[in-house]
Amino acid sequence: MKQASKKSAKIESKSDTIPVWLEQSCFNKDWILRSHEEEYIKHFVCLICKQVANSPVELECQQHMNADESLVVGEHCLKLFLRNNKDMCPVQAHEKCEYSKSKAVGKCIGDLKVMCIRQFEQELQVAVVDDMKNEGENSGVIKCKFKGKLKDLNSHLNTDCPLHMHACWFKTFGCTHACLSRDMKEHLAANMQEHFDLATRMFQSMKEEMRLKDEQLMKKDKQLKEKDEQCKRMEAESQKWSQYLVDIENAKEGEEEEEEEKEQGHDQQNKEKKSSSAASVIIRQLRLEKAKLIQLLTGQDKEGEENNKNNNNKNKKWSEEEINSFASKTTIQIVIAKS
Ligand SMILES: [Zn+2]
Ligand SMILES: [Zn+2]
Ligand SMILES: [Zn+2]
Ligand SMILES: [Zn+2]
Repeated sequence: MKQASKKSAKIESKSDTIPVWLEQSCFNKDWILRSHEEEYIKHFVCLICKQVANSPVELECQQHMNADESLVVGEHCLKLFLRNNKDMCPVQAHEKCEYSKSKAVGKCIGDLKVMCIRQFEQELQVAVVDDMKNEGENSGVIKCKFKGKLKDLNSHLNTDCPLHMHACWFKTFGCTHACLSRDMKEHLAANMQEHFDLATRMFQSMKEEMRLKDEQLMKKDKQLKEKDEQCKRMEAESQKWSQYLVDIENAKEGEEEEEEEKEQGHDQQNKEKKSSSAASVIIRQLRLEKAKLIQLLTGQDKEGEENNKNNNNKNKKWSEEEINSFASKTTIQIVIAKS
């Protein structure tokens, strides 16, 4: 049964169903032979896997143009073979294997009448069990009576096949059991405690997860609040500093004004000083002049005094008469000199 007994079909994606057909492997020849003669299907056999070709293609290499029969191969088998054999042809070892889809053969294979593949698999299993047990113990076995075209089988398997395997209702909690819908109640009843434990564990883990997420959220919230506080503090600080800068600017301006005023004052003072110094120079000069004059005057006086002292009141004794006579003498002398 492990051989290529699968059909090209879309995999059932519903969570409560178990897919039967996987990928595009060729179909189990024994299964097809349940309804057909070997002679009838021999032209549909894949030359690689020897089962009935799924998605058949025909080899068209120049090297086998004279072959007696068409060379049919399942598309999936051929691609796999080429990939594993450096693109060498599966019939003869040559490169550039040429092939194309065979619609005619594909249609014939799609129209093959087949029984339900699940029924076929079940019968093989039952046959094995029958070998071990006595007959008659399988009376409760469900059977699928489907008989139809191979191309319609997939739809049957996914909709009305009684052998459709259902996943346990507790699959999302971790139960991996799958069974026929008929057996589901039995499974649920027999595994109540296990299912309850699974659900409890799931609930606990979800709760723990939520707690961790809550914690993370609270942490982040706290961090956000802290950052917010930090921002506020920084804003207040920056306001303080900008006020401080404004104050400094104002103070500077005030100082500059004062300095200007001072400078102006200095200028005035300098002017005053200059003028005063000029005045003082003049005054000094005047004083010097005065001193000189005084010195001169006092010097003369002193000299006079000394003279007076030396002459013992000679000058003092100069009477008016003496002066007059001195003057007249001098006048006489001047007149004489003139004349
Ligand atoms: Zn094949
Ligand atoms: Zn070839
Ligand atoms: Zn069926
Ligand atoms: Zn279960």
